[in-house]
Amino acid sequence: MQINPDLKFIRYLKGAGGDTLKKCFQCATCSVVCPLSGDDKPFPRKEMIWAQWGLKDKLVADPDIFLCHQCGDCTAYCPRGAKPGDVLGAIRAYAYTEYGFPSGLARLATAAKNLPLLIGIPAAIVLIMWYISGGMHLPTGEIDFGHFFGHWDFKYLTKTTMFIDLIMLPAAGLAVFSAYMGVTRMWKKMCEGINASPEWRPSCGKFINDFLWPSVKEILSHDRFNECGVNKDRARGHKPLMYAFIGLLIVTTYGFISKDFIGIFVPSLHGPLHLYDPFKILANVSAVALLYGIFILWGNRSREESESGKQGTFYDWFLIYEIAAVGITGVLAELTRLAGLPFLAYLFYFCHLVSIMMLFLYMPYTKFAHMVYRTFAMAFERYRDSGFANGVKAD
Ligand code: SF4
Ligand code: SF4
Repeated sequence: MQINPDLKFIRYLKGAGGDTLKKCFQCATCSVVCPLSGDDKPFPRKEMIWAQWGLKDKLVADPDIFLCHQCGDCTAYCPRGAKPGDVLGAIRAYAYTEYGFPSGLARLATAAKNLPLLIGIPAAIVLIMWYISGGMHLPTGEIDFGHFFGHWDFKYLTKTTMFIDLIMLPAAGLAVFSAYMGVTRMWKKMCEGINASPEWRPSCGKFINDFLWPSVKEILSHDRFNECGVNKDRARGHKPLMYAFIGLLIVTTYGFISKDFIGIFVPSLHGPLHLYDPFKILANVSAVALLYGIFILWGNRSREESESGKQGTFYDWFLIYEIAAVGITGVLAELTRLAGLPFLAYLFYFCHLVSIMMLFLYMPYTKFAHMVYRTFAMAFERYRDSGFANGVKAD
């Protein structure tokens, strides 16, 4: 068999945290100690040799790279000082760019040198919309973020709701479409990788019931993640963060439905939520959980870096900074509003909108993308063991 190593790919991995990949001498200790590795298709030993050989296409079509939670158990036991967890992390970072759509935005979002643009684009969009809306001044009276983009006398839809829709809906729509395109490409490559039978395909209901939903349940309970031994803090920080995002998603969906649809018929639904409104309470609890989770992960990564003496990559830190920015600006906007400091309150609210837009825009290309790619890779793990993938019709 002739191997054609992709040298550019190997260079990328080394620069993205996988610099130890050449140390591996294939003893397989990592595959034995990895708590998440299955008996039939153990990882990460095989991924280490594929990475050394620069087998890019094989690696991005390998669902196992997405099953790893980068807990570091394998790294702790590797007799050669290789860091398989970090190598898999670098491969995942490459895969998000490879599958990312549109590819220009995917490449932009994965390089530290583009940070001024990554912040500048959403900041400019929010600023331009703020200017166009005519709301770019400090309103007098009670601080109300519902008047951030100004006020009009059209009682069915507030001006701020409409401007936020104009900013966030296209960003969220692009993120959903990009994630759909990326997952579709990944699934196709994974099917090609195992020569899955093209004849048998599960119906949509069966796919959700047998493959997708069990994976979602496993993610919600963190069953596998909790099995990691060396670095328990990763699961301890990840769980509240995940529930915080679910809580904020519920609040955002409620806000969207109540203000954009029901609010047309019940104009009293417009305006700020009362402090004791259940959705307001959920929003505040989620914000606290978000900050708690992100600071555990922040501290955890800083500790790892100081112990290893190695600086983290842009890929590792970008999402941590982004989520921290969403949480901190949201809390500061709320606190300065309650303290009656309009200049600071509106400034933090502006920063909050920019950080939320960044989260939406770059979700499919940054570490945040694991949310969708891992879910579908876990579904694929079940699918590849099923009769559908093996050409035997299952029911
Ligand atoms: S434990 Fe280390 S040396 Fe052994 S296969 Fe894994 S990465 Fe390679
Ligand atoms: S980092 Fe953890 S989950 Fe990933 S391969 Fe190593 S032991 Fe397994």
